[in-house]
Amino acid sequence: MYHPPDYYQVDELLTEEHLLVRTSIRKWTDRAVLPIIDDYAHRHEFPLHLIREMGEIGAFGPYIPEKYGGSGLDQIAYGVIMAELERGDSAIRSAASVQSSLVMYPIYAFGSEAQRNKYLPLLASGKMVGAFGLTEPNFGSDPGHMLTRLQDKGSHFLLNGSKMWITNSPIADVAVVWAKDEQGVVRGVLVEKGMPGFTAPETLKKWSLRASLTGELVFDQVEIPKENLLPNIKGLKGPLMCLNSARYGIAWGVLGAAMACYDTALRYALERKQFGKPLASFQLQQKKLAEMVTEITKGQLLAWRLGTLRNDDRATPAQISMAKRNNVEMALKVARESRQVLGAMGITGDFPIMRHMSNLESVITYEGTHDIHLLITGMDITGIPAFE
Ligand SMILES: Cc1cc2nc3c(=O)[nH]c(=O)nc-3n(C[C@H](O)[C@H](O)[C@H](O)COP(=O)(O)OP(=O)(O)OC[C@H]3O[C@@H](n4cnc5c(N)ncnc54)[C@H](O)[C@@H]3O)c2cc1C
Repeated sequence: MYHPPDYYQVDELLTEEHLLVRTSIRKWTDRAVLPIIDDYAHRHEFPLHLIREMGEIGAFGPYIPEKYGGSGLDQIAYGVIMAELERGDSAIRSAASVQSSLVMYPIYAFGSEAQRNKYLPLLASGKMVGAFGLTEPNFGSDPGHMLTRLQDKGSHFLLNGSKMWITNSPIADVAVVWAKDEQGVVRGVLVEKGMPGFTAPETLKKWSLRASLTGELVFDQVEIPKENLLPNIKGLKGPLMCLNSARYGIAWGVLGAAMACYDTALRYALERKQFGKPLASFQLQQKKLAEMVTEITKGQLLAWRLGTLRNDDRATPAQISMAKRNNVEMALKVARESRQVLGAMGITGDFPIMRHMSNLESVITYEGTHDIHLLITGMDITGIPAFE
């Protein structure tokens, strides 16, 4: 039985609605994710059948208005959902992050009314899967130099280029793709599965996020109808605003992975005996557990406060960077320490720790690397960019 830590009674800061949402997602994760996820990760497969269920439980677009199929919830509810999904696996949370923050959000915030009506209800219900194409083979942390090009041909646009490391690309029905126009301005277009010249091969042999689908998006003279351009955004701030939303969700999500590891380690340390005593009675193991719960508590407070700022539309991108960076590193450290508490058992699939640990190696890199988020904080406090 899962007993997440709540050392500072952060639950008291949540509303009745947040707690209800949390209970329902927690039950779903227990029933639908935990019994199968280790096998899927071993097989390097995404549990496709969960997509429709995730739509049903409201995991897609929780903060998108109900008139477009979302749940109209606040930012803290979004965070709470992400934490419960990531307790199951970062792959499940990644699917929800991409669908919600990187596909539904830009269509909602930058799309036409016709685009909102066409795509959002299908994405919210899981009848349609979305992907987000920003990263390219030669430009990851530096997307401003992207090579993917969008040419205006009068009756349509022509899209050429490629994107790499794209979550859900092999199964995506629609991809929000960022490309530069003839003036060098970044624009967003909606590319649909089946458009001639568009392919999405899978990237295999990952040792991390093995239960998540990752692939490329390749565009070879793809004709894009004019109505598929996102009309209300120009420039790199478009994709960056999407990333802000996703990074915020990650700051919450990884709390779920960290709590699962800590809870596992604490219970194991209380039960397992060596030298005639429970592991939990040794100072070295208590140090690990005490430090873990301290860091999880700090991470919870950071995520909650950021959520209230986002609810008031006051959270800055730099504040989001700080929370994403801190909480992912915290979760990775908690996973590593927890694994040690379990000794050899820690490397097996009987416990979730090793899977979380290897997943978090991706989470610390995507949506802005650990280093890049540090540079964002550095720039914010000094006024001096140190990226170049
Ligand atoms: C599983 C997975 C799923 C992903 N899903 C998506 C997706 O759905 N859509 C999408 O668009 N992208 C996605 N990504 C891509 C991800 O966002 C990029 O991997 C990330 O932005 C880093 O880019 P890169 O891998 O090219 O690393 P690079 O940019 O090449 O960086 C390599 C290293 O150099 C460091 N570095 C780079 N620049 C600097 C600098 N100026 N100063 C100091 N250090 C620096 C970085 O911190 C990093 O440690 C995904 C990645 C993974 C692993």
